[in-house]
Amino acid sequence: MGKYQYRLKCEFKVDPESFISVADELEISIPCINCQRDHRTIVFENITEKGICTPRKKCNGFPGKLTSRELIKKSDHIQVNYLIDFEYEPFIDQKYNVKSNFKFGWTRVYFTLNCSNCEKENTISTQENVGRPWDVKCDCGNVIYKDHKSPFSYKVIEVN
Ligand SMILES: [Zn+2]
Ligand SMILES: [Zn+2]
Repeated sequence: MGKYQYRLKCEFKVDPESFISVADELEISIPCINCQRDHRTIVFENITEKGICTPRKKCNGFPGKLTSRELIKKSDHIQVNYLIDFEYEPFIDQKYNVKSNFKFGWTRVYFTLNCSNCEKENTISTQENVGRPWDVKCDCGNVIYKDHKSPFSYKVIEVN
């Protein structure tokens, strides 16, 4: 069994001044060797906790965890780097009979920011396969987040 690391970089076009926090929860799609299925949605509820492979009743856990989350405030955006360490070796998907791979990148991230107009706190989630361009407006009408191209980039490396 090999040791692999999934590196996810997010670049959110938000005003760093109004940004509050990124949620602990992260969802990604990745092959799960435990249930031998490609492209499972794996939920990480917190740093250093094991991932939950969904649907839960079909798998008793993803063999890996969210090891770190780094938040960097840039001048005009927020960057979040996630590292997931997991065990993997290529397998044949139990249902579709195809070899597992990392070509499909999907993720969902949640973050919170203040509206610069009315100060209301807004929680936003964005994911890979949303229709873009897409703007998020606060209840007051102010555009608080612009999602015009995918904020995500993915890399999987073998670490040993
Ligand atoms: Zn699984
Ligand atoms: Zn507002």
